[in-house]
Amino acid sequence: MALIVQKYGGTSVGSPERIRHVAEKVSAARQRGDDVVVVVSAMSGETDRLVGLAHQLAPRPEPRELDVLLSTGEQVTIALLSIALQKLGCAARSYTGAQVRILTDNAFNKARIRDIDEAAVRKDLSAGRVVVVAGFQGVDEDGNITTLGRGGSDTTAVALAAALKADECQIYTDVDGVYTTDPRVVPQARRLARITFEEMLEMASLGSKVLQIRSVEFAGKYNVPLRVLSSFQEGEGTLISFEESQMEQPVISGIAFNRDEAKITVVGVPDQPGVAYGILGPIANANIEVDMIVQNVAADATTDFTFTVHRRDYSQAIDILRDVASGMGARELTGDNKIVKISIVGVGMRSHAGIASKMFQTLSKEGINIRMISTSEIKVSVVVDEKYLELGVRALHDAFELERAPK
Ligand code: ASP
Ligand code: MG
Repeated sequence: MALIVQKYGGTSVGSPERIRHVAEKVSAARQRGDDVVVVVSAMSGETDRLVGLAHQLAPRPEPRELDVLLSTGEQVTIALLSIALQKLGCAARSYTGAQVRILTDNAFNKARIRDIDEAAVRKDLSAGRVVVVAGFQGVDEDGNITTLGRGGSDTTAVALAAALKADECQIYTDVDGVYTTDPRVVPQARRLARITFEEMLEMASLGSKVLQIRSVEFAGKYNVPLRVLSSFQEGEGTLISFEESQMEQPVISGIAFNRDEAKITVVGVPDQPGVAYGILGPIANANIEVDMIVQNVAADATTDFTFTVHRRDYSQAIDILRDVASGMGARELTGDNKIVKISIVGVGMRSHAGIASKMFQTLSKEGINIRMISTSEIKVSVVVDEKYLELGVRALHDAFELERAPK
C-alpha cells in the first residue's frame, strides 16, 4: 500500500462534470488500496477572475487582502471535490491551507512554506479517509492567510508529499507528460518516460511551463518522486526523479526555448574594475532579472558588455542604462528585442564531448546566425533572431534524433 499525493490543476476541476471525473479517479486509487491526499487548484479562470474583481476596486490592492480573496478559489474546489467523493461512497474531508496548518512566512502573494503540521492529515488517512487540501495557500505565524504565487498548488502538493514522506507526488494536468520540446513547434516531439530534477529545472525555467519551478526545486531537495500525468487520458506520464547511475542516459533529453528575450549591449566601456557592477547594479536595483551575460576581451582599452533580459523589461532597462552608459563614457547603447533563446538540455552531456559543436553545426547548416552562447554542465544555450526559432528547434530536434525513444 502506497501513500500518494495527487494534484489536479484548474482545467482538471474546471466544471462539476470534471470534478466528478476527478472524484472517480481518486476513488479508484483508494480502491486499489492506496492512501490518497488530493491537492486542488481553483476552477480554471477563477483566480484570474478574482484578481480582476480586486483591480476594479484598486489598481494595487493591499497584498494581505488579495490573499484573503485569492484563497477562496481553492476553498470552493476542496468542498466540491469532497462532496463528489462522498457521493461516490468514498470517505473524504476537505481542509484549507490554514486548517492543515501549512505554515508560511508572511510574504503575501509569494509566501514560502516553512512547516507543515501533518498530524491531522495522518489521522484522517488512518481512519480511511481521502484528505482534500486547498493548494496555493497557507497561514503565517499571526494567522494571516497567505498565498504561494501563481501556480503555487504544485508546490503545496510537493511540500505535502515531502512532509508525509509520500511514495509519489502525481501532478495531473492537461498535458500527458513532459515532452522533448513543445509539440506545437515540433509535431514529432516525444513524451519522456523520465527526466531528472536538474533537467526539468532547465526545461521549466526555459519555458516548458508544465510545473511551477519552485515545486521542482522542492521535490529535488526532499527527493520526492514527481510524476506529471494527464487527467483526461490514461498513461504513465513523465517521472521526474534523481539520475540513476546505472541507467544509460540519452545525451540530450530535450530542447527548451524562450521567446521573450531581449538583449542590450553597452558598446565601448572602459576595461576597468567596477564596470560590470556599474551596469548591472542599477538593473538589479530595478528588480530586473538578467539571464546571459557576455563581456568581450578588451581589444583597445575598451570592451563591449552584453546581457539579456525578459522582453517586458527591455525598455525600462534601456532607460535606466542611458545615463549610466554616458556616465561611464561608453561609446554607444544598443539593443534588440527580437531575439529568442534555444537550449539543448541533458545530463548525458556530462559524459559526452562534442555536443555543443554538433549544435552549432546544425544551426549553421540552416544558415542561422548565433548571436550569443552560454553553457553549463547540462545545457548549451544560444541566442538567435526571433524568426529562426521554429527552424532552429526543428533542426536540432532532428539532429539529436529526439523523436526516437532511447533503447
Ligand atoms: N489558482 C492558483 C493560480 O491560478 C494556483 C494554482 O492553480 O496552482 O495560479
Ligand atoms: Mg497550474
